[in-house]
Amino acid sequence: MSFGRQEVGPEADEQELMNAFGALIESRYKSDFEMLSTCEEEIFSFEVEWDDLCADPVIQGHLGDNLDRFMTVAERVLNDRFIRFMENPCRLVLRLSGLTAHHKRRLDSLRMRDRRKLFTFDTLVVGRTPPLGYLKRASYACAAKGCDFVRDIEQRLARQRESPGPCPKCTERFLSGLEPEEKEIATRFLPRSSYNLVNENLRYIDVQYLSLMDVLPNAEGPWSVGQHVWTAVVDEDFVDAYPIGSLVRLHASVHVDHLPERTFDKDTRRVMILRVEGIDLLDEHATHFDEVTWTSEPSWR
Ligand SMILES: [Zn+2]
Repeated sequence: MSFGRQEVGPEADEQELMNAFGALIESRYKSDFEMLSTCEEEIFSFEVEWDDLCADPVIQGHLGDNLDRFMTVAERVLNDRFIRFMENPCRLVLRLSGLTAHHKRRLDSLRMRDRRKLFTFDTLVVGRTPPLGYLKRASYACAAKGCDFVRDIEQRLARQRESPGPCPKCTERFLSGLEPEEKEIATRFLPRSSYNLVNENLRYIDVQYLSLMDVLPNAEGPWSVGQHVWTAVVDEDFVDAYPIGSLVRLHASVHVDHLPERTFDKDTRRVMILRVEGIDLLDEHATHFDEVTWTSEPSWR
């Protein structure tokens, strides 16, 4: 490293993204906040145009390989920096809109190599689960007497809840006063930390699984549908908003998950599951489909 040059770590990188996204919202979406000042919803989908994101070189650099991280960071910026514009604060959920034809794909063409990529699909909702809750953020307080360490951990959907490791404050106390060699050994035998969940800081969100099929529009009708039923997860205000029979254009990223009905722990088979980042309605409620099996049993069961 040359003299005087600072290494750009993940934190600086994240700060740069936060500033770029904050500036974009400030310059192009301020009028949306005027409308939101009287919003009475508790949760509101805030749509940002894909072209606007791509036009900013800093933001664009974050869209490719780690969309999840971008969505998390940008949504935090929306809620932290712009909440002052609203009279009745509501929680904003970042949604993507206006993806181009370049992103268009058929569900039936998805394969493992597509994971983590973002696409647009024209689909028919053929089934859905009841709304489910999901613990998105768990907050842990160290249970040791006199310790005030608290750690929030963002949890992943359909995975074992991630626990915090050893408490750094207790570790410091435990190791203080030891000689360097003793420290090295003691580090390997740290006492196990115990934690309590902080109920006020837990964040639950609503999610719902949708069963979807490709729709293939045909001017002469009836429209036809694809071969397979695919699964997507929607969250927050999208839950229960799209009944069976809805024709929707989904902007979604492809994730992999283990088989929901697996019978042994380390089953290596995976299914693809779509995480929905934005929805446009395609048409009126579909009544003009032939040979569609409406399913009350969602495909993930
Ligand atoms: Zn502690």
